[in-house]
Amino acid sequence: MSHAFLSSATLPGLSALFCITFFFLWRRQRENRCTLNWALAYACGALGSATGLMRLFIEHAASITFVGNVFFLGMGFFAVRGSNLGHTTRAQDRVLIPIYAVTIICSLWFVAIEPSVFWRGTTSSVGGAAMFLLATYIKLKDEGRDRIDDLTAIAFLLTAAALLARPVFAYLYEGPIQSDTESPDSIWFVSFRFFAALSWLSIAILFLFRINTDRLKDLAYQSLTDPLTGILNRRGLLGVGEGMVQDASRARPVTLLICDIDHFKSINDTYGHRMGDVVIRDFAEVLRRAAADAGYAVGRIGGEEFVALLPATTLPRGRAVAEHIRTTFLGRSHKGVPASHIVSVSVGITETTGGESLDALVERADRALYQAKHGGRNRVEEMPGPNPAFRLPLAS
Ligand code: GH3
Ligand code: MG
Ligand code: MG
Repeated sequence: MSHAFLSSATLPGLSALFCITFFFLWRRQRENRCTLNWALAYACGALGSATGLMRLFIEHAASITFVGNVFFLGMGFFAVRGSNLGHTTRAQDRVLIPIYAVTIICSLWFVAIEPSVFWRGTTSSVGGAAMFLLATYIKLKDEGRDRIDDLTAIAFLLTAAALLARPVFAYLYEGPIQSDTESPDSIWFVSFRFFAALSWLSIAILFLFRINTDRLKDLAYQSLTDPLTGILNRRGLLGVGEGMVQDASRARPVTLLICDIDHFKSINDTYGHRMGDVVIRDFAEVLRRAAADAGYAVGRIGGEEFVALLPATTLPRGRAVAEHIRTTFLGRSHKGVPASHIVSVSVGITETTGGESLDALVERADRALYQAKHGGRNRVEEMPGPNPAFRLPLAS
């Protein structure tokens, strides 16, 4: 096996490996379109670099090298597309497709009309660089980017720089390349393999980091979120709530609401479990809207039981919020449940001015809820804390 064959086989092997890896990662999470694009990018890389191998055995290699260009540009296209999808919901096809098409047409010109290996290769490099510069710009524009995005932006920028610098460097060093069958050890080909190996490897590793980090973030989010309603689950609420309750003071009391949908079992029994779920989601929506922009933490802590934690809120103000939640829910219609079936909620509330645990607060609010249930339901009952807060005009 010749030295040229081995060195030319490295890139297709490397790309095929990453293509398979990204493909199987995508199969596990099909909604992740970035991963599919990256699998396609490395498939193009494998096919494009395979043409480099074929060139070793074919006499007139202009057309086969052109096919290689088509794939290499496709590799940049899908790599950039996948990366863009991670930052915006748009892949930026409206910019990428014209870059791809114009580059291919220009390359074709230098194959069929004015044959020039140098200009065909240079045109492809410029098109690829334009794509990577676009991806760098989109990454840097995203204010929510993290360190992996920064590193990927640097890798994209260096790839674009290498794509632009390689033809210049090769031209200065050995003049314009004349033929595709020129020695595979020429600067033109060696520099391509060198930069491609560096760039493809580093970008693939960064893509893998990206997928892994996003997956971990997803899992962390899922472990704290209730899948039915999208608000915090018990664990998520405890995590946020402990800190809130610890920060409570007489000047900035924390009020806690426990809400329990009335006679919920009869909704399940009469209309089915799925209608029950609709009602649960409706109530979560009412809570979410009440909490929006107010800094409240809301969560579902049981089947039809919810908690809202209101920082810097006194008991009277908390009561007003609870009444608003109760009446809003009462006036709401639920898809699939007849309007004649009144669905209500009972709320127990209490406040703390510090020195208590979240558990103690929940237990006291639960006693208030018990009173509300025994008082006839569809009402708000309160249980003051041991040290009532100062009634500051602003806070109440
Ligand atoms: P009360 O007014 O005293 O609160 O009566 P209730 O019927 O609302 O209370 P109970 O605790 O007897 O019933 C709660 C029911 O909630 C029992 C359970 O089957 C149902 N449930 C728990 N989780 C879910 C869920 O995720 N979806 C649906 N549809 N039902 C659930
Ligand atoms: Mg209950
Ligand atoms: Mg109930």
